Amino acid sequence: MNSDSVAMMDLHEKLHKKETTVCIFGTGDFGRSLGLRLLQSGYSVVYGSRDPKNSLLLPKGSKVMAHAAAACEASVIFVAVQREHYGFLTHLAPDLEGKVLVDVSNNIKMGLYPESNAEYLSRLVPGATIVKAFNTISAWALQSGGLDANRQVLICGDQAEAKQQVVDIAQSLGFTALDKGSLRAAAGLEDLPLQLFPLWRLPFCIAIGLAAFIFFYVLTRDVIYERVTNGKDISFRIMISLANKVFPIVSLVMLALCYLPGALAGFLQLYNGTKYRRFPDWLDRWMLCRKQLGLLALAFAFLHVLYTFVIPIRYYVRYRINVYTLSLVKDNKTYEFDNVAAWRHDSYYSMGILGFGLFVLLGITSLPSVSNSLNWKEFSFVQSKLGYTTVLLCTAHAFLYGWDKFLKPYKWWMPPAYMLSLVVPCVVLILKLILITPCVDRKVTRIRQGWERQSKTSANCRDGKTNQPLMA
Ligand code: NAP
Repeated sequence: MNSDSVAMMDLHEKLHKKETTVCIFGTGDFGRSLGLRLLQSGYSVVYGSRDPKNSLLLPKGSKVMAHAAAACEASVIFVAVQREHYGFLTHLAPDLEGKVLVDVSNNIKMGLYPESNAEYLSRLVPGATIVKAFNTISAWALQSGGLDANRQVLICGDQAEAKQQVVDIAQSLGFTALDKGSLRAAAGLEDLPLQLFPLWRLPFCIAIGLAAFIFFYVLTRDVIYERVTNGKDISFRIMISLANKVFPIVSLVMLALCYLPGALAGFLQLYNGTKYRRFPDWLDRWMLCRKQLGLLALAFAFLHVLYTFVIPIRYYVRYRINVYTLSLVKDNKTYEFDNVAAWRHDSYYSMGILGFGLFVLLGITSLPSVSNSLNWKEFSFVQSKLGYTTVLLCTAHAFLYGWDKFLKPYKWWMPPAYMLSLVVPCVVLILKLILITPCVDRKVTRIRQGWERQSKTSANCRDGKTNQPLMA
């Protein structure tokens, strides 16, 4: 073997050693969990600590030394230290020259600092390359193996090579890596773990607001009205009867609210004559939280089903049946079979069961693990065609429940609550009906395929005319 090939092997060994040794500054919760995971994935781990002798509970097989010595051992250094303590890194600047520093830090509040932690780090150690990563992965997820929802490592940084090194490490640990761009994206990544159900906030507010409104509506119409006009106390109905009126109404309205923005968007595209004009912000926000609206609606539908199951065993229902049967016996009357009522009840239950079945199917297909296995055609068939069918079935269920109740005199001019639940679904179904009529559907489809209506101004511009005001 000549001296050149020995030198090459040395270099290769050196490079290999650098690649498989990862340094972690900080022996806290995150540092320990990350170290353990790295060791399990075949990396050598060296910790940099303020007090190497007293660093306990470190994963077996790792080394611990002072920061400067540890930094020499690896080209990639994870800074698993709170931002408030980054000061010590300025003294280590010469040792960190040319290294890749991975900033994993988060803050306790949004907008606490004018710049992101990663940008602050790059200012403190200008000779190092900073990559922001792993801050959205918890120490617990690192230890437990990163279950589905927590499998993605978001990465950003200004240097592609450095990012690639971190991507390789993330993938070796069993995570998928998603490049979020330059270091300027770090502020956004640092805000992510601080957000509390961002996409659920609006749907939760709608659900709570709607449920409160419908509850007070039925409370006034059913319980308070009875007390004021007839002096009867039927407040016991609050627990089951009223609740079982509120849940289906909220569920149906929220289900319809999932489909209303899609229909509105269709009309907006027709009006604009193009799909390239942005929707208003409120419509964008509404469209983004449709899945959450739908899942909350499904939860209310589940409650409705459970509450309906207990109806036959309720004390009040059994009492009413007994009293009615006895009165028939006493008065020697027969309970005539009503064919129309039989049809109505069976249809009402049937629509409800089918609607609920499809609703559950919609809920299941909206789960990432299921939706990922569907192609776009299948997903849009389920979410759009079956979705509108669900709205139709559930609306029919409510219509059949109400039957002729809308003809009866209203209590305090308040129509029965079920009528309130029909407003939004009927609007959605009417809009959809208009959109699927052949002439409108053709136009919407063309627009969605990129066709644009020629506005007078753009036509003029294309004809070489300027946009000058016309002279009379
Ligand atoms: P931690 O348990 O408080 O540990 C931080 C470590 O930093 C300490 O163990 C200590 O290690 C070192 N340290 C403390 N004061 C220092 C100082 N003045 N100068 C230098 N080093 C100091 O925190 P952690 O939970 O591991 O979090 C570490 C970083 O990871 C934070 O930026 C956090 O935002 C981020 N993070 C944590 C999680 C998580 O689930 N915990 C998730 C995502 C991101 P030595 O004593 O060995 O020096």
